[in-house]
Amino acid sequence: MKQYRPDTTCIHAGYTPGNGEPRVLPIVQSTTYTYDSSKEMGDLFDLKADGFFYTRLGNPTLDAVEKKLAALEGGVGALVTSSGQAATMMAVLNICHAGGHVVCSSAVYGGTFNLFYKTLHEMGIDCTFVSPNCTEDELNAAFRENTRCVFAETLTNPSLVVTDLEMFANAAHAHGVPCIVDNTFPTPINCRPFEFGVDIVTHSTTKYLDGHAVQLGGAIVDSGNFDWNNGKFPEFTEPDESYHGIVYAEHFGKAAYIAKARCHLMRDIGAQAAPMNAFYLNLGMETLALRMERHCSNAQKIAEFLEQDDRVAWVNYPGLESSPYHELAMKYMPHGTCGVISFGIKGGREAATRFMDSLELASVVTHVADLRTCVLHPASTTHRQMTDEQLKEAGVSPDLIRLSVGIENPEDILDDIKQALEKATK
Ligand SMILES: *Cc1c(COP(=O)(O)O)cnc(C)c1O
Repeated sequence: MKQYRPDTTCIHAGYTPGNGEPRVLPIVQSTTYTYDSSKEMGDLFDLKADGFFYTRLGNPTLDAVEKKLAALEGGVGALVTSSGQAATMMAVLNICHAGGHVVCSSAVYGGTFNLFYKTLHEMGIDCTFVSPNCTEDELNAAFRENTRCVFAETLTNPSLVVTDLEMFANAAHAHGVPCIVDNTFPTPINCRPFEFGVDIVTHSTTKYLDGHAVQLGGAIVDSGNFDWNNGKFPEFTEPDESYHGIVYAEHFGKAAYIAKARCHLMRDIGAQAAPMNAFYLNLGMETLALRMERHCSNAQKIAEFLEQDDRVAWVNYPGLESSPYHELAMKYMPHGTCGVISFGIKGGREAATRFMDSLELASVVTHVADLRTCVLHPASTTHRQMTDEQLKEAGVSPDLIRLSVGIENPEDILDDIKQALEKATK
């Protein structure tokens, strides 16, 4: 297909109907595919021919969404998964086994932290967490002989740190390993990590990519740029006996990583996305560019309002010039970051609770990054068992409110915030 600009790609990439075929991407709700001969089926199993044979390994609806995601990120291929968590796990397990080691930014999504800290650790994979604000020397010092990859988030959930992608990618490459980043918050509309040397991107498609909070999903996208022939990754350069002795780097060339993730890990783990969910995801992605533009312009207006209001103690939004991450944001996501803002109001935990309870338009939910404005007050919900002292240690101040700005009319969102502020601080 012709290379289009991102907003056109959102609508048209991945699916081009033939004469008389459905204009809209169909949901292929089938686990199996029939062939005229066993020979044809055998060739598919041997990877000698292209085609679908079992939905765990591939499905036309999933395939179209994967092609769209790969086109948006500028990669050679993608694999969709049943959730963002599954994508993170498979992205790492594809190149890291018991006895291996990962360098990971400490500012990552809570689920990612738990995966590395607990589950992968129990599987024999060690992780060294580094501050996203570390120096190059501190980052380099975290590597070991058995390090297999570096993991970070482009824009962290919920702390909104903009990671210095070039510094993380350069350090990874200096140690002969790939850099993987979770690009969920900015989406490929606002940040294209491959342009800064990142090798592999993961997503929770549950958030902005879907945008309507109707499906749980994840994705891995491969840039095709990492050279697996550097002696460190025999899983790509030596035969995989469990797959007819295939040598991934020889058979799939630049797409070796994503092909192995599918042929090997999806086969064995089976965290496949459902065709129906992929259909919803595709529908969401069609309007992604438009929605991100509105999320960002709305969030910018609201962050600017909060910043000048005397009742507000502090505001954290990379789009504000006062943000310590403004410069990095301008470099890596110059057209906008995302719709999430964190802030605190004077009066601490009690005022924050009153503010939350007074909101009328914004809903209180454990979710972020969809088209409805929503809020979460960690100190009275997800972290409610903690004392103020413990919250501080966890990096969550008692007054922290995470506001996920939706795409409603910005004046309505502002009016809601104003009336809630009034009630909370009176
Ligand atoms: C939500 C989220 C995840 C986990 O995704 P699920 O789809 O909930 O499994 C991973 N990374 C980031 C940045 C997220 O926001």
